[in-house]
Amino acid sequence: VGVILRSEVYTGDLVQGQTKTVDHRQVKADAEEWTVVRDTHEAIISREQFAAVQEILNQTASRAKTREVKAYTPNLLKGKVFCAHCGGSLHRQRNIRKKSDDVYFYHCLSRSRISKDACPGVTIREDALLDMLADMLRDALDTALGQYTLSLAELPRQAADRAELREKITSRRQEVQRLRGIVRSLYENLVQGVLTKDEYFDYKEKYESRIADLAVEMEQLEDGLRTMDAQTEQHRALEQDAAQIKTDRALTGALIERLIDRIEVSHDKQITVRYRFQSEFETYAEVLEQCRNM
Ligand SMILES: [Zn+2]
Repeated sequence: VGVILRSEVYTGDLVQGQTKTVDHRQVKADAEEWTVVRDTHEAIISREQFAAVQEILNQTASRAKTREVKAYTPNLLKGKVFCAHCGGSLHRQRNIRKKSDDVYFYHCLSRSRISKDACPGVTIREDALLDMLADMLRDALDTALGQYTLSLAELPRQAADRAELREKITSRRQEVQRLRGIVRSLYENLVQGVLTKDEYFDYKEKYESRIADLAVEMEQLEDGLRTMDAQTEQHRALEQDAAQIKTDRALTGALIERLIDRIEVSHDKQITVRYRFQSEFETYAEVLEQCRNM
């Protein structure tokens, strides 16, 4: 159809010389080089109509060009969206819309790239996915903040926990000093002939291994103190994130990066999310439990 619409022949004119031979090859000639003989046969459309059609065609072509350069929107979920069935990462695809904003989709490519049986297939619109994520994040943050609350009522308990950990560290440090003193006196006993060489090495090994154990425990307790600081800090940051999501549902790339580890989408558009803060809180809880039992 494009060729017919651009062809001057239908105005009743004969056009020749549209191609020419250059270096033994047929190439298109510029319009100025064409030979046009007017009114050689009956016209199907008038010259005015023909000119109008050319104008429309040129406008459409230039509009198509400006559409092409419309920039991609930022990829907020980059590297985080996966297929719940085959585990493949979902491909982000843009569908260009003429009269509205472009629409972005996430697709699983396994059916086309591997085989029809590789996956039942997953497709979801990005805006729908982001909308669901905003709701899910809001609920998950509420739950996490409620569960691990560091509210004012919890502060005395936290202070007591801290004091207990510091006390445990101090008592171990003192024990290490006491044992080092014993090891030194063992050597004096060896020199004075109170201990045999075998006895000396037996005792020395026993005390030194106890010192090494205490050093490991002290390191774990220090770790517990650092974890408590990190938990307080994390809690504060999550409270801010939760407030931001509640006032402005739009998720930013930074917010998603901080809170979400992995998103899985199924054939029937069920979403499963692995949150970063969940595993962090679980680790904190483990470390602190360990310290309390020491
Ligand atoms: Zn898949």
